[in-house]
Amino acid sequence: MIELQDVHKHYGNYHALRGITVTIEAGEFFSLLGPSGCGKTTLLRTIAGFEPISSGAVLIDGKNMGGVPPNLRPANMVFQSYAIFPHLSVAQNVGFGLRRDPRSPAEKSKAVAEALEMVGLRDFNARDTQALSGGQRQRVALARALVLKPKVLLLDEPLSALDKKMREQMQMELIKLQQQVGITFVLVTHDQEEALVMSDRIAVMFDGEVAQLADPETLFRRPNARRVAEFVGTMNFLDAHVISEAGGRVELDTQGLGRVMLETSQVSGGPSQGGAAVGFRPESLTILFEGQVAPDRESAATVTDVVYHGGLTYYDVRLDGASKSVRLSMRNVFGRPVLSTGVRTRIAWSPGSLRLFR
Ligand code: ATP
Repeated sequence: MIELQDVHKHYGNYHALRGITVTIEAGEFFSLLGPSGCGKTTLLRTIAGFEPISSGAVLIDGKNMGGVPPNLRPANMVFQSYAIFPHLSVAQNVGFGLRRDPRSPAEKSKAVAEALEMVGLRDFNARDTQALSGGQRQRVALARALVLKPKVLLLDEPLSALDKKMREQMQMELIKLQQQVGITFVLVTHDQEEALVMSDRIAVMFDGEVAQLADPETLFRRPNARRVAEFVGTMNFLDAHVISEAGGRVELDTQGLGRVMLETSQVSGGPSQGGAAVGFRPESLTILFEGQVAPDRESAATVTDVVYHGGLTYYDVRLDGASKSVRLSMRNVFGRPVLSTGVRTRIAWSPGSLRLFR
């Protein structure tokens, strides 16, 4: 549906997009994820046509969009600020884009009512937009884009102004809506959790480039670089030293974990230039309580910090022989004690959950 071919964007001397080549499939929920300033909004605006590109090509539905203004592209954008008109009613806001539509007023009213129904705002037609909650305003902005029946909906941080509960609710509703209307959605977000929850695929961007493009699980389990791993969820790193590499396996000496053998499929990055590190998620270490036996490997550690989160407790532990603490998470099970800082403990882990970054 959308093809970006070696897209570059310069603002004066600043090289904001550095050769983006990405294909977004029809009906896909695609997210652009990255830290502030990495170029995700710029990329979205180049698809919408608000930003001319310096070189490369943007194709939508097989057509080159070079020189095609935003209003003639089969794409519509929903902005972070909603950009709804305060002096117009809900129905007038939603119908705004149909001003020059040749259909009869009755047909247009029907289209507006259908769009409002889709976003759960049935019977809100006459409502003053001032008398709406943040979530309802966001729905109006969505309905206003949907009424134009675009092939592509471009969403620039559409949920960032909502509180956590409302944001989570809207995330679920957006997923359902997207499945229902079958439109291709491209979402810009700096919120990794939002991207993981909502997307079919995610492009992680840094400094105007796509660092990794993958489905949420691959991104989380097999990040291709340390900065991707650090940006998507929490990952611990311990310094490691490569001892040998042969036959599809890498032998390492890792601070606190000792000697481990990894498969090359667990390795991110090119040939070693020193400075290697082993990464693992908090849920891949487990505290062993009295009488429990490690199914695989076991290491001794000291608890250095405890953060209670209700359903989970996060423990910072310093593995014996490591120069810094790592974080692990434990589900709080009824009857199991929450450990205190300073306590000695045993940690179970498995080489299969480790990743080597170099
Ligand atoms: P955020 O999450 O903060 O919105 P972003 O990833 O969307 O960040 P962009 O808005 O795409 O980032 O900006 C990418 C870079 O290009 C930034 O360094 C920004 O300062 C720069 N930039 C964006 N628009 C312009 C402009 N009109 N003129 C000059 N530089 C710009």
